[in-house]
Amino acid sequence: MEGKMKAFVFHGLGDARLEEIPIPKPGYGEATLKVNLASICRTDIHILEGVFPIKSGTVLGHEFVGEISELGQGVEGYKIGERVAVAADTPCGQCNECLGNEDGRGCNVVFGAFHLGAHRNGVHAEYVAVPFAQVNMAKIPDELSDEQVLLVGDIITTGLGVAEAAGIRFGDTVVIFGQGPIGLMATVGTKLNGAGFIITVDTMPMRMEMSHKMGADVVLDASKVDVLSEIKKLTDGRMADVSIQAVGKPETFLNALKAIRPGGVLSDIGNYGFEGSLPLPLDAFLAGCGNIKIITTAGPGGKNRLTRLMSMIQHSKFDPTPLITHRFSLDQIEKAYEMIQGDINKVLKIAIKP
Ligand SMILES: [Zn+2]
Ligand SMILES: [Zn+2]
Repeated sequence: MEGKMKAFVFHGLGDARLEEIPIPKPGYGEATLKVNLASICRTDIHILEGVFPIKSGTVLGHEFVGEISELGQGVEGYKIGERVAVAADTPCGQCNECLGNEDGRGCNVVFGAFHLGAHRNGVHAEYVAVPFAQVNMAKIPDELSDEQVLLVGDIITTGLGVAEAAGIRFGDTVVIFGQGPIGLMATVGTKLNGAGFIITVDTMPMRMEMSHKMGADVVLDASKVDVLSEIKKLTDGRMADVSIQAVGKPETFLNALKAIRPGGVLSDIGNYGFEGSLPLPLDAFLAGCGNIKIITTAGPGGKNRLTRLMSMIQHSKFDPTPLITHRFSLDQIEKAYEMIQGDINKVLKIAIKP
């Protein structure tokens, strides 16, 4: 396919512009997708602000659903026009780590599989070429709308994944710090994993209200109460079996660590960046003898993972659509970025229609 498309291109710190660039041709093992719907992630903002450096001239964005417009050589079992979901990470599926990890998180380098909108052109455009397409394109069931599956490749796989990684048992008491989009999906995952008592922590009214809708039993306002003493009260002094950290600040890590009982689990979704360090006071670390587990995860990708997550939405195990609070066209994408960078009490996720 020849021709031009609109794309939101990164040009340096705080500088991204909507431009016309060529529609990408798929290379070997790649597929070009028409972007049906995209969303903006906090990581896109980090990139724009220079926290995560990428090359000037790269199209931003990694959260989307699309339909196949052209298949490169070596991609089998797909047809032009099929709708597919693709995760934020697009692992190769071939390296030792990919082959040994059934959840498709491989390519054994931090951010090594983070191609779209980072190592190569992303999805805030009319078209995108997806690498390792055969490993990463999950067909979308006909019954599901683009909005129902828009978030599956990023915040859903990440948020559910952090709950899954914690190994929550039926009846566990779980505290989730941070009720942004990923934290909210961690709340959904915690409920689906059979937690007995779910406590969540945030400060923003819109997020706290959504937290109740997504399954929290008690929502603590960290600006009004002392969170750790509230958790102590709510658990009769036992503290939580599991805490989930979904804010990415050192002080939240410390609270999440202090919130668990001896033998408990802290499941952490970062993303703290590479600068600085985390506090690990020995009383909170229970002298190193508390049998605690600290687990970190990032969003697993790959076709098998996304297919399973879409099955959950298809069969009404949860509904992510209330998280989409705003809708813009691709022509208005600068406005959408401004909104995400502005008052985050007013917005959760934005759907962008090219
Ligand atoms: Zn993201
Ligand atoms: Zn790999």
